[in-house]
Amino acid sequence: MQKTQQTALVTGASQGIGEVIAVHLARAGFAVALLARSEAKLVGVRSRWPELGDALILSADVRQSDQIERAAALLEERFGHLDVLVNNAGGSFQAPARQLSPNGFLQVVAINLVGPFVVSRTFLPLLEKRGGSIVNIGSTAGRDMAPNMVAYGASKAGLVNMTRSLAAEWGPTVRVNCVAPGPILTPAARQVLYEDDPGRIAAAAETRSVGRLGTPEDVAEAVLWMARASYVNGSVLYVDGGPDVRSVTQAGR
Ligand code: NAP
Repeated sequence: MQKTQQTALVTGASQGIGEVIAVHLARAGFAVALLARSEAKLVGVRSRWPELGDALILSADVRQSDQIERAAALLEERFGHLDVLVNNAGGSFQAPARQLSPNGFLQVVAINLVGPFVVSRTFLPLLEKRGGSIVNIGSTAGRDMAPNMVAYGASKAGLVNMTRSLAAEWGPTVRVNCVAPGPILTPAARQVLYEDDPGRIAAAAETRSVGRLGTPEDVAEAVLWMARASYVNGSVLYVDGGPDVRSVTQAGR
């Protein structure tokens, strides 16, 4: 790595949106670190994309502060500092609220809200070295509603509030923003959400006012912009294909 090269860490980089964000940042010239729990999947990502070069692989759980501290030590050893942190790792499962146990609720909040806090706080000294930027990956579920995923919606709503608080606390040295996707057609979403059914995918696309579902590249482009936008702090950028056309009256369209 050259001394002047910008560095980035992407959590949840072993598949889906995080994988593409990492590749996008590498193409933009960043030296990249990939973090997720499965080391084997991260190694697979690195070998799939030549542009990732010798990307640093960090196997860690965002909920475990000791594992994240170890990851920060490894990143400091390799890069010396961090310019961009993308808190992308996240997850949920479907369950009606009346059947969701308090522990199930806590698990979802731990991944989507506590995780980004633990990672941001742990990597803050490395971000402060040259003045860095954090991009949290939210969701329109945190703005709108999340029936059958109440903990997910609540955690993503909390992430927006945390974004603004940290932006206020850590600026001007470190900016903190949020990119909030709507429905994005990742390989996992295609299988799990739409059961690989072209009819279901087309129906979902029709709800978007731009007439299609999002791609991981749409999110990655917004993340790169947020990471560089030096007069943007504490903001949320929705990458959701515009308003849901089902909320528009027939007369209005
Ligand atoms: P995904 O395919 O399920 O991938 C999740 C990633 O996070 C994986 O790399 C996973 O790797 C990692 N991860 C999960 N739990 C972790 C933990 N405890 N510690 C460290 N890494 C962990 O998800 P995606 O669809 O790409 O979504 C990425 C982000 O975008 C999430 O924050 C999600 O909420 C948000 N989002 C997605 C959509 C969508 O339509 N796909 C829409 C709005 C927002 P390991 O299992 O190996 O740890």
